[in-house]
Amino acid sequence: VRIAVPREIFPGERRVALDPGMAARFAQLGAEVLFQRGAGAGAHFPDAAYQEWVRLVEQPPLAEAEVLLKVQPPTPEEAGQLREGAVLVGFLQPHRHLEMVRLLRDRKVTSFAMELVPRISRAQSMDALSSQASISGYKAALMAAELSSVFFPMLTTAAGTVRPAKVVVIGAGVAGLQAIATARRLGAQVEAYDIRPAAKEQVESLGARLIDTGVKAEGSGGYARELTAEELGIQTEVLARHIALADAVISTAAIPGRAAPRIVSAAMVEAMKPGAVIVDLAAESGGNCELTRPGETLVHQDVIIHGPLNVPSLIPVHATEMYARNLFNFLSPMISDGRLELNWEDEVIARSVLTHAGEVRHEPTLKLLE
Ligand code: NAD
Repeated sequence: VRIAVPREIFPGERRVALDPGMAARFAQLGAEVLFQRGAGAGAHFPDAAYQEWVRLVEQPPLAEAEVLLKVQPPTPEEAGQLREGAVLVGFLQPHRHLEMVRLLRDRKVTSFAMELVPRISRAQSMDALSSQASISGYKAALMAAELSSVFFPMLTTAAGTVRPAKVVVIGAGVAGLQAIATARRLGAQVEAYDIRPAAKEQVESLGARLIDTGVKAEGSGGYARELTAEELGIQTEVLARHIALADAVISTAAIPGRAAPRIVSAAMVEAMKPGAVIVDLAAESGGNCELTRPGETLVHQDVIIHGPLNVPSLIPVHATEMYARNLFNFLSPMISDGRLELNWEDEVIARSVLTHAGEVRHEPTLKLLE
């Protein structure tokens, strides 16, 4: 099978879908790998590190690809160059890129969206949402510390004792838990909030306290569901008290395929301490804070609101290594003797597919296209 990896062209993207380690692993399986020169540069992987395992090419190897590995969804120009029957694997964000979905469908591309890989135990090593979310969570805690006007740790000095910062983490999923762990390592006192009942144990095992609002809203597949108006009211009231005392708020709450839930209102921000910080990781899908402007840092009544985008790309080495390993673990079971064979009996394959043989196979996306 001929696997191809182009340079990512999304503005600011520093990751690439293949690191030298996984290039070697694919080559050892008998795959031929085409790799666009310079594609690893953003993640500090020089062409020379790949050379032994790949054929370096000047142009994006799109038309030649039997399997195209991507980080960001392909642009219409990229998708338009794929050959019929080609396989595409990457983050595809279908609900935001319907034009791309139509192109992939019409060109009979078999596309797999890494977001759709089911969260079953066997597929954990392929879970790119989790690997990238943990990077975002770590970085969000560092951003909060960096923007903060106070120390995170408790310090006992000759000039007096400094109390530890109070950090509130909203959404204790993969990113939130990593943010909690990182803020704890920096010495902050951490409180966390989630609507999944399972979060309590996870939060406490990291040395943080769960803010209990009494609202429980576990949806399907371990994800959260949207809250009712009444539940939202209760949540807002309890959370507001904790946020008002926080030096930093890190928010990560998300509902798959939806706009982020609005949890922090303008009034809650206005009740925060002067100099407090909000790092809104949900900025990517609109923000958990009403005042967040995705991609910007602003100050509202002396509270800093930071809405970073594409955070995993800020730690490009490990983000690339982890993502490439997720892709390898996803694809390698389908490669034997250097040939690719899609096994549709396999639950992971069947549930990750977006388009195949001229059809959109993902129900929610199909609905959006109607
Ligand atoms: P996510 O990014 O979709 O959401 C982040 C968090 O926000 C979630 O914990 C969610 O419960 C929370 N949230 C949503 N709405 C909220 C609201 N209104 N208020 C407060 N919190 C809210 O989630 P994720 O990080 O991808 O993980 C979701 C779950 O899946 C977690 O339980 C995680 O442990 C689990 N998971 C399981 C596997 C597996 O292989 N079994 C792998 C990864 C994650």
